[in-house]
Amino acid sequence: MLSLTKKVKCPQCNEKIVISGDTLAKAVERAKKMGLFSLAFQHKDHVVLIYIDEKGGIRGVETAPLVKVEKPVFLKFDIIPVPKPKEKMPSLNKLSNEELAVLTWCDGQTTLSEIAEALSMPYGLVKAIVESLYGAGYLKELKEVVAK
Ligand SMILES: [Zn+2]
Repeated sequence: MLSLTKKVKCPQCNEKIVISGDTLAKAVERAKKMGLFSLAFQHKDHVVLIYIDEKGGIRGVETAPLVKVEKPVFLKFDIIPVPKPKEKMPSLNKLSNEELAVLTWCDGQTTLSEIAEALSMPYGLVKAIVESLYGAGYLKELKEVVAK
């Protein structure tokens, strides 16, 4: 069981980010599926994406501009992206950081709105990324569900 916290310096504002042992353990658990998992931390005007591998190591730190996240008001249907098994996916190296961050959240249970919220990304952007991941062969299925 991992109980150590990790400290990461934000590459944009130099502020320290502390990842608690709990958060890290959860990320490691989820990274086992794809080899990576991404955590997002909101700073004033940017989001820090931290990639955790299945051993709890930090594989990368990236920042992206923070866009105001609004839930679509009249969203009737949401989408649950279902990933392909890791061995059937194309190489993860081909993906941009944002695509990789979104893909690590695709577990066959999490909806696009939940992914958008977790990564502080606009719903429309997450939807576009998921559609392109589907087109590129990373996802098995886009399941339509009634919005929560
Ligand atoms: Zn920062």
